[in-house]
Amino acid sequence: DAAQTKFKRVMLKISGEALMGDQGFGLHPPTVQRIANEVKSVHELGVEICMVIGGGNIFRGLQGSAQGMERTTADYMGMLATVMNALAMQSALEGLGVFTRVISAIPMDQICEPYIRRRAVRHLEKKRVCIFAAGTGNPYFTTDTAATLRASEMACEAIFKGTKVDGVYDKDPVTNADAVRFETISFDDVLAKHLKVMDASAIALARDNNLPIIVFSLDEPGGFRGILAGKGTYTKVVS
Ligand code: UDP
Repeated sequence: DAAQTKFKRVMLKISGEALMGDQGFGLHPPTVQRIANEVKSVHELGVEICMVIGGGNIFRGLQGSAQGMERTTADYMGMLATVMNALAMQSALEGLGVFTRVISAIPMDQICEPYIRRRAVRHLEKKRVCIFAAGTGNPYFTTDTAATLRASEMACEAIFKGTKVDGVYDKDPVTNADAVRFETISFDDVLAKHLKVMDASAIALARDNNLPIIVFSLDEPGGFRGILAGKGTYTKVVS
């Protein structure tokens, strides 16, 4: 029951790469399924869940533009990639009996709902998982910024950023055995130290809206539910 967590409404941000498993590209259905199960176990606590999924497992605008593609066109392709990921997650969640809506910043009515703020809020109140797709709908932004924007609009209490590691370290913990994890760190320090939590515009937006970011490991089974109940290791980015 909801008594196990103090959170009522949260944003879960994951990168597109979190869905590709060990393949190095695209969607790995068992991995999508595994993450859907993590989301379901939090949904069972009665928490209202927003999700933003990146598109980097399929296409990144910066990569396309580095290969000579016009930047804004490449960014739109990246946004379309996030829609594919959102649909995959929708399918996995609904297969588990969790009702969802995919809500796109760019209308594509045959595929999903357009973003209408008050309608999205209503879905959350009815305990439907809202998967926000197509980023912010604007080129030159990222899905980190989209997650922060939607979390602010939906009045989420925090953004949960699921990554491969269990928090923010002073240096890369994969290549540095002596890396130290921060328990908490300020938005300003994240910006000043150029720590790779989220991109700078997303960090600044979260800071200005007083929206904490909790960085945790998505590879830990039961990790998301544990973090919501105050267990496990993570880093909290706050003002
Ligand atoms: N994108 C964009 N505007 C947005 C969100 C995303 O143009 O508001 C594009 C951008 O090209 C980006 C791609 O979509 O590279 C995929 O998103 P992102 O890189 O954030 O995915 P992630 O790294 O989280 O998988």
